[in-house]
Amino acid sequence: MSRSYYIAGNWKMHKTRAEAAELATALVKELRDGKHKYLVAPTFTALETVGAIVKRTNILLGAQNCAAEEQGAHTGEVSVLQLKDLGVQAVILGHSERRHTYKEDDALINKKVKLALKHGFEVILCVGELLEEREAGKAEAVCETQTVKGLEGVTAEELSKITIAYEPVWAIGTGKTATPEDADAIHAYIRKVVGKLYGADAAEKIIIQYGGSVKADNAALLMAKENIDGALVGGAALKPDTFVPIAKFG
Ligand code: PEP
Repeated sequence: MSRSYYIAGNWKMHKTRAEAAELATALVKELRDGKHKYLVAPTFTALETVGAIVKRTNILLGAQNCAAEEQGAHTGEVSVLQLKDLGVQAVILGHSERRHTYKEDDALINKKVKLALKHGFEVILCVGELLEEREAGKAEAVCETQTVKGLEGVTAEELSKITIAYEPVWAIGTGKTATPEDADAIHAYIRKVVGKLYGADAAEKIIIQYGGSVKADNAALLMAKENIDGALVGGAALKPDTFVPIAKFG
C-alpha cells in the first residue's frame, strides 16, 4: 500500500492569535521528526500568525472553509484569493458543522471544491452520516451521495489534491468513536465509490481520513485498518499533549 498517513487538526472557532501561536510553535517543535503528513487549520483570524510559524516546516496551513465566489458583495465570507494571500495551502470543505449548522448543501460544497482546486489548494472534503441515517441503514448511501456530488466536475488530475475525511456526525465532539471495523467498512465503500468515478488506481491512491473523537488511545487502532489513512482531529487538536501522540502514532 503506497498511501501515507495524513493527520490534520481542525482548531474550529478556538484560540486567539497568541494562543494559536503557542500551539503552532509547540507542534513545529514536536512534529519536526514526525513521519506523516500534517496540517493545522486555525480560525481565519489566526491564519497569518500560524502561517508565519509553520512556513517551511512539515506542517501545512489549512483554512476551515472558503467562500464559493472569488470576490464581491459577500459580507462575512472569506475568499480563496485572500487565503492564498495568507499562504494557506489547503481548505477543509463540507465539514459537518458547515453542512448541518450552516446549511451548506452538496451543490455549494462542490462549487467551493472546484474553486479551491482552480486556485491550487489541496482540499479535505468531509462526508458523513447523521445518527438517524446510520440507524436507518443509510450510512453508505449518504457518504456515496456526498462524495459523488462533492467531486462532480473534478478532473482525474485534480483528484490528487483531494483528501476525503469520513466523519460520522454522531461521533464528532461527542466522545463516541466509530469502531475501527465500522469506520474501515465505510472507508472501503468510499474508496469503491472513488473507483467507480476515477478508476482503481485513483481509488487505491486517495487518502481517506477518519474524524470523530479521535484520541491518543484510539488513533493507532483506527489507523491500523487497511482503508484508514489518517485522521481529522477536532477537540484533541487543541493541545500539544493530546495532538502530538495522535500525530506521531505508529
Ligand atoms: C472534527 O470536527 O472534524 C472532529 C473530528 O472533531 P472531534 O475530534 O472533536 O470529534
